[in-house]
Amino acid sequence: MDYSGDNGYIIPKKLLLLHSDNQNDKMSTFSFEYQRMPVAELSEPDRELCRRAAIATGGSYAPYSNYNVGAALRLADGTVMAGANQENASYPCGTCAERTALNYAQANYPQMAVEAIAVAAAHEQHRGDTTSTHRPPYPCGLCRQALAETEHRQQTPLKVLLVDGDEAIVIPSASCLLPFTFE
Ligand SMILES: [Zn+2]
Repeated sequence: MDYSGDNGYIIPKKLLLLHSDNQNDKMSTFSFEYQRMPVAELSEPDRELCRRAAIATGGSYAPYSNYNVGAALRLADGTVMAGANQENASYPCGTCAERTALNYAQANYPQMAVEAIAVAAAHEQHRGDTTSTHRPPYPCGLCRQALAETEHRQQTPLKVLLVDGDEAIVIPSASCLLPFTFE
C-alpha cells in the first residue's frame, strides 16, 4: 500500500487498489479498512468530538427532511467547531452539516489542518439523541468530495467519525470515502 505522512499518521495517496492475480482479468478493486466501536472506547478528544456533533444537531434547520445533522471538527491545535445542516425551500440552496463546519474552518483558519470530523444525526423531535435514527449519517457525495480535497490540500489525514447511536464508525482517511475523486 502506498502511504505517506509523518507523526505516526498514515494517509493513502490512493486507495488500496487490488489487482487480480489473473493476468487476463482486467478487474481491479478498491478497498479500505475502518472500525466500528463504542463511542465510550474512543480517545477522549474523539469522544468529545462525537458529543459536540450530537449537540450540534440542535442547530439544524431541517423542516423539509426532519433529519437533523450535526458535525464537529477538530483542528490541529485542538480547536473544535461545529456546524449543522441548513435546508431551504429552494432545495439546492441547502448545505450539509459537514460542509457548514468545514467551510467555516477553512474560511477562518485557512492555515490549520483539520484533524478529524464527527457527524451525528437525530430526528426532529429528538435533537441531540443519536439513537433516534436507524442508520449512520453517511456523508453525501458532495461532502465526500469536499472532505477529500481538504485532506489532499493539507497532506495529513482527516479522520471521519460517524456516530451511530452509542457506537462510531471510524474511517482513518476521508479519501477512502470517495474513490476516483474529482481533481
Ligand atoms: Zn453532504
